[in-house]
Parts: sequence; structure tokens; C-alpha cells
Amino acid sequence: MDAPKAQTGWSDRRNVSAELQLRLRPAGLALRATPPLRGGEYDSYRMRVLVVEDEVKVANALKEGLEDERYEAVVAHTGEDAFFRINTEQFDVILLDVMLPGRDGLQILTSIRKGGVTTPVLLLTARDTVEDKVAGLNSGADDYLIKPFAFEELLARVRALLRRGRAPDPLRLAVGDLDIDLVTRKVTRGGRTIELTLREFELLEYLLRHQGQVVLRDTLAREVWKETTRGTPLNNVIDVHIARLRRKIDLDPSVKLIHTIRGVGFMLREGEP
Ligand code: CA
Repeated sequence: MDAPKAQTGWSDRRNVSAELQLRLRPAGLALRATPPLRGGEYDSYRMRVLVVEDEVKVANALKEGLEDERYEAVVAHTGEDAFFRINTEQFDVILLDVMLPGRDGLQILTSIRKGGVTTPVLLLTARDTVEDKVAGLNSGADDYLIKPFAFEELLARVRALLRRGRAPDPLRLAVGDLDIDLVTRKVTRGGRTIELTLREFELLEYLLRHQGQVVLRDTLAREVWKETTRGTPLNNVIDVHIARLRRKIDLDPSVKLIHTIRGVGFMLREGEP
């Protein structure tokens, strides 16, 4: 169940990255969510970078370069794939090529920002006119890089975006009359206190953070159970936890919050999806 342990030979830069990650964690969650640093080593959490790039050679080079720097890099070759992943997975930073077939980078950027996604976005663009830069930043990009660029430059920009960090997480999350306090871990529905196990709380927190979105079992396995190997028999465990959460949260079937999207996963929202 544990994520793979860090290998030896972490560079000083890696230590900086680990410390950065500690700082980015919401204060109330830092102690449980992040393992302590042990002599320059850390495990279980790596920064996830989404690389949206239709040119396979460029995408692979970026992925390999980022992996050499111990980032976890995920590639999307089309705008549609990128849009789906951004809405179903969590990333720490998104590298977004502007010129994509189908939905281009700026259209994707506009859509995800409208949808409330605050993940930092670094635009990769071959365009270098002032108008295009302004258009990119107006669409919600945090920074841009003009192709061709040196990989070191890209790394520096990515680190700067991660340092700047995300907007601070709210201390409370709510949907309908369900309310959870991320600091005290108190859960109430309609004012009634609900006792949850640690795992049930983490599962509910994840669903709440992605309310209105379809959450895949694979995503829960990775984000809540921290299981990185695909195809492990975790689906039954997830289903059991969902069933328990339902018994505690959804007592009144007329106002169900946790919905099963058959063959796909789950969705938390008020009313039928
Ligand atoms: Ca392109």
C-alpha cells in the first residue's frame, strides 16, 4: 500500500522541493498528510505535472526530463484528453501547449478556469507577439514560455509556479447541508454530527473537493489510498468504504449526495447527476 520509497541520491534541489511541498500543504493537514523528512529523503508524494503537447517527440522529451528531476509527469496529446484529465485528476502544475488540434490550449485554459480549476498553468507557445501573450494571460495562464526554450528555463518557471503555490485551501468544505471542518475533522449533516474513520474522512474530503465531477476508482486508489500500482484489487475496498460513507451520510434517500456513476466511478453532488 505504501508508495515506493525514495531512492538514494536525492539532490539538494530535491530537498528544497520536499520542503516546498510541506509549505504548500494546508496548515491543518500538514502533520497527517506529509511524512516527516528523514535525512534528505522523503516519500509518498511527488509533484504531478500534466504535459499537454500534441508533438509526440516534444511531449516525450518533456516527460523524460521532468522524470529525471523526480517529478511525476503525465502526458496528454489532445485537448480533449487534457480536459478530461484536469477534471478527474489532481496536478500541481500544467504545461499547456497553445497550438493543439481540436480544442486549442487557450480554449482549454478558459474552460478550466471557468470551472474553478486553480492549478498553475504554464503556456508553451510558438507565438511571440504581444497580443498572444496578453491573450494567454487573460485566459488565466500564470506564465508562458516561447518555443523553442531551454529545459532548464522550463524547470525554473515550473519551480517558480510551485513556489507561488495554490490559493490556500478553505478550512471548511460543504455541499447542501453537509459540512466538514478540515481542521477539527468534524462532519455534520443538517447539524447532526457524523463520526467517520480516518479513511472515510479522507474519502469524503476528496469527493467534496471534486463535487459535481465524476471521480474514478483509479483516482481514489491513487489520491486517497496512495496506491500507485494499477490493477490492484482495491476496487472492493473502495466500494466498501463508499457503502459505509453512504450509510452514515445519506440516511435520507430523498436527498442523496453520493451517487454511483455505473461502470465509471462516483460523484458527490446535491441531486441526481
Ligand atoms: Ca503543438
